[in-house]
Amino acid sequence: MLNREEMIKRAVFPGSFDPITKGHENIIRRALPLFDEIIVAIGLNIEKKGYFKLEDRIFWIKTVFADCNKIKVTSYSGLTVDFCKSVEASYILRGLRTSADFEFERTVGQVNKKLYPAIETVFLLTTPEYTSVNSSIVRDVYKNGGDVSLFIPDGVTLKGK
Ligand code: ADP
Repeated sequence: MLNREEMIKRAVFPGSFDPITKGHENIIRRALPLFDEIIVAIGLNIEKKGYFKLEDRIFWIKTVFADCNKIKVTSYSGLTVDFCKSVEASYILRGLRTSADFEFERTVGQVNKKLYPAIETVFLLTTPEYTSVNSSIVRDVYKNGGDVSLFIPDGVTLKGK
């Protein structure tokens, strides 16, 4: 087994990405210099069905990062740490917007560390102008016919429902 220094630095960025926003894109682009590969992984939750179709969510992320071969996009079900093990990722990437994010992420990060001691969660602070951007606001604006282009990455056109 390779030690951490010899392994390729692979991070998983887990989330719902329902849909991807400029906030997500910003975190991923800023994380690029830190890792050899980032797997953007859409977590499937049986109790929480997504609003947009999974294949559309994947397609939009792939479109945004079409020019970047360090980014892979997939979905997974089950525990995030089990997915990390299966793809040999040693890092989980998360974004922090608010103190509420911090409190939530601290619990999840500490539980993940218990479940899989080799994993490290890496947090990037949100860029101030994206603090209020989140997928649920984007869905609301979309459902009510507002201009979502302010909040979603260039090149993405939402469709569905
Ligand atoms: P979840 O379903 O876990 O809330 P999301 O798809 O909303 O997943 O977000 C995935 C990750 O992206 C989380 O770490 C979240 O904090 C981060 N994130 C979401 N929006 C922003 C933003 N505007 N700025 C920085 N990070 C963000």
